[in-house]
Amino acid sequence: MATPMLLKGGTVLVHDEQDHVHALKTDLLIEGNTISKTEDDILASSSTQIIDCTDKILTPGFIDTHHHVWQTLLKGRHGDDTLLDYFPKGNFTSSVHDSEDFFWGQLGGCLAMLDAGTTTVVDHAHLNYAPESSKAAIAADISSGIRSVFCYCPTPRTESWSPFKFSGHDMLPDWVMTTMKELASKAPFGDGRITLGLAFDALWMPKEVVVNLFTKAKDMGIKLITTHYVRSAIQAPHSPIEVLDSYGILDSAYLFSHTTNATPKDAALLLSSNSHASTTPSTELQMLGGSTAAFHPTLNMTSQCGVGVDCHSNNSVSIVSEIRLLLQHVRAVYNQKFVDKGVVAKKVNHTVEEAFNLGTIGGARAAGLSDKVGSLKVGKFADILVWDATSPAMVCAAQHDPVQAVVLQSSPKDIEMVIVDGVIRKEGGRLRDVDLRPGREMWGGDGAKGDVVSWNDVSKELVKRRESVQSVIEGLDMEEARKGIIQGWYINEEVIVDSA
Ligand SMILES: [Zn+2]
Repeated sequence: MATPMLLKGGTVLVHDEQDHVHALKTDLLIEGNTISKTEDDILASSSTQIIDCTDKILTPGFIDTHHHVWQTLLKGRHGDDTLLDYFPKGNFTSSVHDSEDFFWGQLGGCLAMLDAGTTTVVDHAHLNYAPESSKAAIAADISSGIRSVFCYCPTPRTESWSPFKFSGHDMLPDWVMTTMKELASKAPFGDGRITLGLAFDALWMPKEVVVNLFTKAKDMGIKLITTHYVRSAIQAPHSPIEVLDSYGILDSAYLFSHTTNATPKDAALLLSSNSHASTTPSTELQMLGGSTAAFHPTLNMTSQCGVGVDCHSNNSVSIVSEIRLLLQHVRAVYNQKFVDKGVVAKKVNHTVEEAFNLGTIGGARAAGLSDKVGSLKVGKFADILVWDATSPAMVCAAQHDPVQAVVLQSSPKDIEMVIVDGVIRKEGGRLRDVDLRPGREMWGGDGAKGDVVSWNDVSKELVKRRESVQSVIEGLDMEEARKGIIQGWYINEEVIVDSA
C-alpha cells in the first residue's frame, strides 16, 4: 500500500452541487489512490508523506475527452492544413508507423499531457494496423501513469500509397474482433487506470453491422463508445446521433466528437439520451468551422460537453489552452453581432468558471467517470494538480481568483506537481522518470531502452523515430492520396472552393 500523502495548507478548488467552484484553505489527505479527507489541520500519522502546499493552488487534473494520442511523431506539420490536407498527412500516415513508433509516440503524448495537467484522456486510438499496434499503445499508457479510456478503433488502414488504396470497406476483419475480445477480457489495465472503450466512425456501414458491433462491445463490458461527428459540406450528410437513435440504441454510452453545427434535433436527442459531445477548439476552429457544441449560441448542450485536444500533431496538449481559446472565441463571435449593429454588449458571454468546468467536471461526465474524477471530493481518485500561486504568471491573479489564474494566466510551467491515482508523476515542475516494466505485461517490444527512462531518454527516441518516419513520408505522393480519399469517401469536390 502506498504511503499516505497529506497536501497541507493549500488553496483547494472544490466544486459544489451546482458546479460552482469554491477556493478553500484546507488540507487534503490521500490514502491509496483516493482522496480520503479534506479538512482543516488534518493530523498526519508518522508514516504520512507531508507536502507543504503553502502558496499553492490545488485543482482536479484535467479531462481530455477526445485525443489521438499516438500522433507525437507527426507534431508540427498541420498548422496550415485544412481537414482534407490533414487526412492523408495525419490520419493515414499511421501506416508508416510500426508498433515501436506507436509505443514511443503514445508515451510521448501521455507524458506531454501529464506535464500539462491532463490526468484522464479519452483516446480515439485510430492506429489499429495489427493486434500489436493497440497493445503497444496500451503498454505506453500503463507505464506513463495516465488515466485513460483507451477506445479501441477498427479503422481504415492504408494498403498502398501508389496507387492510393485503403481498407474502407474491410474494417472488421477477424483479427480486429479477436483482438478487441482479448483486450476486453483482460481490461482494465494499469491497476484499473486504463479501461477499454470503442471508437468507430463507419456509421455508414449497414445497420446490422453497426448494431452488432456496438452490442458486442457492450456485452464485452465496454461502457464508452465514441465516434466523430462533423457536420460540414465534405462529410457524410447523416447525423450519427440521428442514426443511432433511429437504430434504437442511442444512450448515455455515446460520446460524439466535435458535433459542430449540430441541429436542434441533434441537441434534443443528445440531451434526452444523456449522451455527450466533445468540443476540440483548435482543430474545430482551424479545420471544421461553424458553431462548437460547447457554448453553442442557441442549443444549450454545454452541460453535456467536454473538451478535447484532438490532434497534438496540430496543437498543444494543454486543456487549459483549449478552454481558453474556446471561451474567448465564443465571446468574439457573440460580440461581433453587437459590433455589426453599432452597439455594445452589457455583459460578457459565458464565464471563466464555465470554461474551467468544461475541462474538469464536465469532461468527467462526458467520459462517464464523474463519480471518480473531475473534482476534488472525498471518495474520488486522487488525480490532483498543485500549482505555484506565486509564479510570475500566476501571482496576484492566484490570490484574487484562482480559477481565473488557472484558466487565463497559467501555462504548464506553473504546474509544480501532478498526481494520478495517488502517484506523483510530475514533481518540482519536472516529469518523473518512467518505469517501463508495468507496460511490458501488455507488450514487450519497447526496444529494451532499460527499465526506467527519463524524459530526456524519451525525447531522444522520439527525435530519432520522427526522422525515420519523415524520411518515408517525404517519398509519398500526398496529392494522389488526397484524391484517393476524396474518391474513396465520395466527397463532392464541387463544394471545395476558393472563397465564400
Ligand atoms: Zn479526432
